Amino acid sequence: MAAAPSPSLLKESPLDPSCAAYDHTVLAGDHWLHPVKKGQILRIVDLEGNQAADTLFYNLHEPLDRYSASDTIRRQHNLYLSTGTTLYSTRGHALLTIVADTCGRHDTLGGACSRESNTMRYSFDVEPMHACRDSFICGIQHWGHGMNKRDITCNINFFMNVPVTPDGGLSFADGISGPNRYVELRAEMDVMCLISNCPQLNNPCNAYNPTPVKVLIWD
Ligand SMILES: [Zn+2]
Repeated sequence: MAAAPSPSLLKESPLDPSCAAYDHTVLAGDHWLHPVKKGQILRIVDLEGNQAADTLFYNLHEPLDRYSASDTIRRQHNLYLSTGTTLYSTRGHALLTIVADTCGRHDTLGGACSRESNTMRYSFDVEPMHACRDSFICGIQHWGHGMNKRDITCNINFFMNVPVTPDGGLSFADGISGPNRYVELRAEMDVMCLISNCPQLNNPCNAYNPTPVKVLIWD
């Protein structure tokens, strides 16, 4: 089993939620599409704990320039995201930087659940159940620009713990998040954020109980 996250990565934010310019609760299974302008701070709160907030970021003005898991991992020399991580785009731009984190580990390898992966992982009967990939496709089509499923790339799973084992495997480990833990990101450029708040009813990581997350934005 990979080492637990370093306590030095845990960092609380000085920002007061009552002063946020935007405050919205994303119900389990819903998606959320919203711009975050350069200099604004986005906080995602795991309201009840061990929820997976599957998230994609795009350059607001050039949607073909979007979050790149491989560039982010390579440039920070680390598989996991936490305080101090800068998220990079496919064209080498700094999209956002994680400035506070009370969870300590976020996954950038596990990807989003899809109907296909759910049948592989669980059983054929779960094929009709809603999955993050469906939410992402719905969200990206609401944005427009003629975007569709080919514009869904490798996502971040905020609050998910997916350690790499010593023999190189991926394990979907028990969550290390808890109620009201959060991650906070400063936008380094104008970005569009697309969250699929995972509807997964079959995953023991969240005790088969998907729960809401809160999003806050400060100017
Ligand atoms: Zn999911």
